[in-house]
Amino acid sequence: MGAALKNRIIANNTFNTLLWKPIHRLLLKVLGRRNQKEGHRGFVGRRSRWPVRSLGLKTCRKEPIQENVDRNRSRGSARWRCLAARILDKVLDTVFPPCCIACENRLPAGPSRCLCESCDTRIESVRAPLCRLCGRPYRHEWQGDHLCGACLLQLPSFSVARSWACYPREPDPSHPLRQVIQRFKYGRQASLGQPLGRLTAQACRPWFRSSDLDLIIPVPLHSRRLRWRGFNQAVLLGREVGKAWGLPLDPFILTRKTETAPQTGLSLKERRPNVRGAFAVAPRRNVEGMRLLLVDDIYTSGATANECTRVLLRSGAREVQVLTVGRTVS
Ligand SMILES: [Zn+2]
Ligand SMILES: [Zn+2]
Repeated sequence: MGAALKNRIIANNTFNTLLWKPIHRLLLKVLGRRNQKEGHRGFVGRRSRWPVRSLGLKTCRKEPIQENVDRNRSRGSARWRCLAARILDKVLDTVFPPCCIACENRLPAGPSRCLCESCDTRIESVRAPLCRLCGRPYRHEWQGDHLCGACLLQLPSFSVARSWACYPREPDPSHPLRQVIQRFKYGRQASLGQPLGRLTAQACRPWFRSSDLDLIIPVPLHSRRLRWRGFNQAVLLGREVGKAWGLPLDPFILTRKTETAPQTGLSLKERRPNVRGAFAVAPRRNVEGMRLLLVDDIYTSGATANECTRVLLRSGAREVQVLTVGRTVS
């Protein structure tokens, strides 16, 4: 045997021992596990150590899928995942203690919530008696549900509007809902969208039937405002509502054509002309026959919701309902 050949044999043996064998063993393990997941026996005897399915051999009899075993295994892994998530939650709560979304004070340990006791009691939920159409709450219980003056004067285009909480019209910087909305919209804290959306979805659940709705449409922002804020608050809220109620969301159907002056600085009379013609349905988007849920942060005069509804109905939508986090009250 020549020296060159001898060296080659030694090199081959070294390659086999050091590199190929471990790779081979790893491959067998991985493929074997995958095969077991598929419900087949991965290895048969000593001869065919490769998964039979991958080689297309018939030496292995296809066995019935072990459903119970798989189910127990998936239950087991789900239990581990759940435990891991709970431990991670505890660690995160210790490192970053949960704070009230309104006053930012530390929340006491206990069931997970996003508002402290004091803010929770100060935020007044919208409840009956209220206007059957626009959801304006009345002060006295004896008044009962009826149409408000504004709706009697001019019927809104949407079929119903509801909100989670009363939003004070007077500038009260200490009001918890005002604080959280201000930080969400003008402080650009996008993380507040999730708790606000969840609270709204939970509180307004009795007012709506998700089986009567096809799609969520957030009130759009003008591109310039969107660039400044970095997000559309209505999209974040609508996404949470969609998750909670099992509804899809499409933020691209309705667009804002013109940049209007902020509604907050305008009187109730000026609001309607301010948003007139500001919205449009995007070309090649179809809302024909759809029952839509329009989502926004605050309902004040209903001018924005009305204008969006008018545009959507003109494009063939069957019905538009409105959901907002807050409802301005005097
Ligand atoms: Zn608080
Ligand atoms: Zn009304």
